[in-house]
Amino acid sequence: MFDLTLTFDNGPDPQVTPRVLDILRERRLKVTFFVVGGKLDHPDGPALVRAALADGHRIGNHTLTHTVPLGENPAPDAAEAEIAATDRLLRAIGVETRLFRPFGGGGNLDTRLLKPSVVDHLVAEGYSCVLWNAIPRDWADPEGWVETALEQCAAQPWTLIVLHDLPTGAMDRLETFLDRAAALGARFRQDFPEACVPIRAGRIAAPLTGYVSALP
Ligand SMILES: [Zn+2]
Repeated sequence: MFDLTLTFDNGPDPQVTPRVLDILRERRLKVTFFVVGGKLDHPDGPALVRAALADGHRIGNHTLTHTVPLGENPAPDAAEAEIAATDRLLRAIGVETRLFRPFGGGGNLDTRLLKPSVVDHLVAEGYSCVLWNAIPRDWADPEGWVETALEQCAAQPWTLIVLHDLPTGAMDRLETFLDRAAALGARFRQDFPEACVPIRAGRIAAPLTGYVSALP
């Protein structure tokens, strides 16, 4: 038996997100989608985010451009340009969120994730910064990620996994993963393990030194 929290990053994607929503609805699973602000430009983007919210999923901010990890982004206004700008786009379509997930250029949990001005922004705006403890690299291994993910689940009591609702082919294996995880005793839940949320509602709740670079 193990606990399992599902998160889907980098969408919404008009080809893949609707199918992911269908699969989750059929199984009555609630998850969190960390959306890239730039994806809301697609004509279907806003409706997909609203549909996810209507199904009981949570929405989080996953930067505007998802190009340079914030800890490596030299722009002094990176928090404004990446986080606040995405927040405005979400609010414009009726979505309020205080969840933020940085990206580490391939899932790295290190000082590429954040920098001091970004931490200041997250604290000032009352965000929770949601990291992860399992990243089976579904984008790079669209078939084999299922085995990797199940091994990660078996190795710890509560897995917070990062998957991607992207057209890589990986989501063709989502039902297989969910079936096999359930057969192994997965208890699906929507909340996050505390160890994965070092900033909670604007309060620094765990040491950030391993996640923050020295850039301004
Ligand atoms: Zn990402």
